[in-house]
Amino acid sequence: MKNLYDYSYEKLQFHLVNAGFKLYNATQVFQWLYKKRITDFDQMSNISKHLRTYLKNHFTTSQIGCFTQQEAEDETVKFLFSLDDKHLIETVWMHHYYGDSLCVTSQVGCNIGCSFCASGLKKKTRNLRVSEMVLQVLKAEALQNQRVSHVVLMGTGEPFDNFENVMDFIDIINHPHAFEIGKRHITVSTAGIVPKIDAFAKRQSQVNLAISLHATNDALRSKLMPINKVYPIKKLLDSAKRYTETTHRRVTFEYLLLKGVNDSMKDADDLSDLLRGLNCYVNLIPYNSVAEFNYQGSDLATQERFYKRLLKRGITATLRQEKGADIDAACGQLRIKEDE
Ligand code: SAH
Repeated sequence: MKNLYDYSYEKLQFHLVNAGFKLYNATQVFQWLYKKRITDFDQMSNISKHLRTYLKNHFTTSQIGCFTQQEAEDETVKFLFSLDDKHLIETVWMHHYYGDSLCVTSQVGCNIGCSFCASGLKKKTRNLRVSEMVLQVLKAEALQNQRVSHVVLMGTGEPFDNFENVMDFIDIINHPHAFEIGKRHITVSTAGIVPKIDAFAKRQSQVNLAISLHATNDALRSKLMPINKVYPIKKLLDSAKRYTETTHRRVTFEYLLLKGVNDSMKDADDLSDLLRGLNCYVNLIPYNSVAEFNYQGSDLATQERFYKRLLKRGITATLRQEKGADIDAACGQLRIKEDE
């Protein structure tokens, strides 16, 4: 049996029409699942008995479980959700002045192998299904008794290594009969898989794209992010440029500030030179230490200096505020401690 939450609106329409039902039945099903949040087919009262029986025989609406949940001093909440095959995944709820955002996981583990990132300590076991991403949002909203206004694909995993499922997930959270989260309120972060950046620009031109850059030369970037050996900086920036041309949208570069590694004034200058002329902005991320690695975050004064240098050299930048650090929910700290 298939999980009904695996279906994008178009795929559900296609399936139902093929089975002899009507296009509008997909609207009804979506509204029960996502507007009214009903999981029991018998309660879907405006759906014919015939279709309800069909749905019962072909689909489940099975949910994900909540294994634990922790709340940080700043009220950031980290959920540890459990999947059908007992794998655990992390999802983080953050409060911002502009609304609430959910940081969603796209894979069990990660194969990208960035040398500073806790998520990569556990190799990828498998991609998440569409339903498992959708259910992170549904479950978190049910537990918080609140809706999120923003979704960021910045949890564990590389979203572009699970491309098709992530695209369907975006369709569902954006769909007017489902969550209705605006495309500009959805952000996908990638380590830089160039062909997928091109595909994404064509498929989802209004969804925000963030690229993890973290270094200004190939030698250092390859050390930090082995994926750079496949898609080096020049190729990556060329794809970012194509992205801005295709979508007419600004691209975000994430730049982690690592003490003594990439945080000198020369690095700031190199970064500005590299990005000059590109329709982009830089999101500077303070590094959250990971016990297994030797990297340290730059001190506050250095972060400020780096940030101001970029501005002075004409590059738009923000210095990210960390959330949830005391519960290991901060950016890059997601890892499954309970799952060992
Ligand atoms: N695979 C995607 C999503 C990763 S999470 C990507 O690579 O973009 C989002 C961001 O957190 C990435 O920029 C990632 O490099 C960064 N990150 C990883 N570990 C971190 C840490 N310990 N502290 C701060 N940021 C970290």
